[in-house]
Amino acid sequence: MSINKKIGLYIHIPFCLSKCPYCDFFSIVSHDDELKERYVSALINEIEIYGRKIKDMELISIYVGGGTPTVLEGEQLKEILSSCFYNFSVAEKAEITIEVNPGTIDGDKIKTIFRAGVNRISIGGQSFNDRVLKKIGRIHSKEDIMKTYQLARYAGFNNINVDLMFGLPGLSKREFEKTLKELMMLRPEHISLYALTIEQGTPFYEFIESGKARLPSDDFCSKLFVSAIDLFSGNGYEHYEISNFALTGKRCIHNELYWKNESYLGIGAGATSYLDNKRYQNYRDLNQYINLLESGILPIRYQEILPLKERMAETIILKLRMMEGLNKDDFRKKFKVPVEKVFYTPLQTLQEQGLLADNGSNYLLTKKGILLANNVFTEFLD
Ligand code: SF4
Repeated sequence: MSINKKIGLYIHIPFCLSKCPYCDFFSIVSHDDELKERYVSALINEIEIYGRKIKDMELISIYVGGGTPTVLEGEQLKEILSSCFYNFSVAEKAEITIEVNPGTIDGDKIKTIFRAGVNRISIGGQSFNDRVLKKIGRIHSKEDIMKTYQLARYAGFNNINVDLMFGLPGLSKREFEKTLKELMMLRPEHISLYALTIEQGTPFYEFIESGKARLPSDDFCSKLFVSAIDLFSGNGYEHYEISNFALTGKRCIHNELYWKNESYLGIGAGATSYLDNKRYQNYRDLNQYINLLESGILPIRYQEILPLKERMAETIILKLRMMEGLNKDDFRKKFKVPVEKVFYTPLQTLQEQGLLADNGSNYLLTKKGILLANNVFTEFLD
């Protein structure tokens, strides 16, 4: 495997203190310290193997996500990061993020990870309303979020993201707006705002199916989203991706690599990588993942080279997520064919429906397209 470029590194920590009923991320509830220790060693083995294998690359971002990375000890997180610095070439100004769940971190741990080189914290807040936080099964309160935020600032972090959700059951417009106002007072450098999605197979899906919980209408959710976009824009945040907002110079470098369909290496159980147009996925089963690495074998479950048309569609969909949209020249340079030649019908249909605009050099989502982005994206899939 040889790569001659700048890539991102994702590290998956699959442990959580409890499982949120709406969550379909790959994570398990575990209080087994020995398992966590073996997992950390396996991660380091994997980092070492890739460090030997991939020489010709530079990491411009490291993102430790999960799960809940902060269920690990500060020293364990430090060990993982030190191994990255030792085995890979890491750019001087690399963005190094750790996801933090309020209630799983104290002042000492946050200082340890800051000193270990982490320069960006992503706080999974979701809402500032305690009643709703409880309803969606979060383990933390609003006070925990505020405390975590202040601890991060105090430790020296000047790049903080806060994740929020809208469309939560039982959350009124007034309550949502109160959360937004309080968020504006905190003034994080970055905000991710996602609609709650109900995935089949999660306990929440059953609640909704059985009528135990009710979701707000699409129309109501759209109104909340539009009011949030307006408020953030009015407060100096750039709306740069459908669900993401940043103060100047604080876009998330790591996620931009995904949205630009560029290369990244994923480490950890269930992690995916995208390198040289090939997609890889690791085994999810923790014991299998650990055992293979203990024997010095990469735990790759499958790898595939994406068919050309699929790669093109994926590029279009990811780029349309960004507000600057899909640059026609970039597409032609990358695939040696104009985008209209392959996707003439969806491009026309979406423009007729008022979901897509053409500014001459780029195709981009209209305001209506942002609200109905999933409908736009399915048009590019066969
Ligand atoms: S903390 Fe995050 S990863 Fe863990 S169960 Fe909740 S939503 Fe899922």
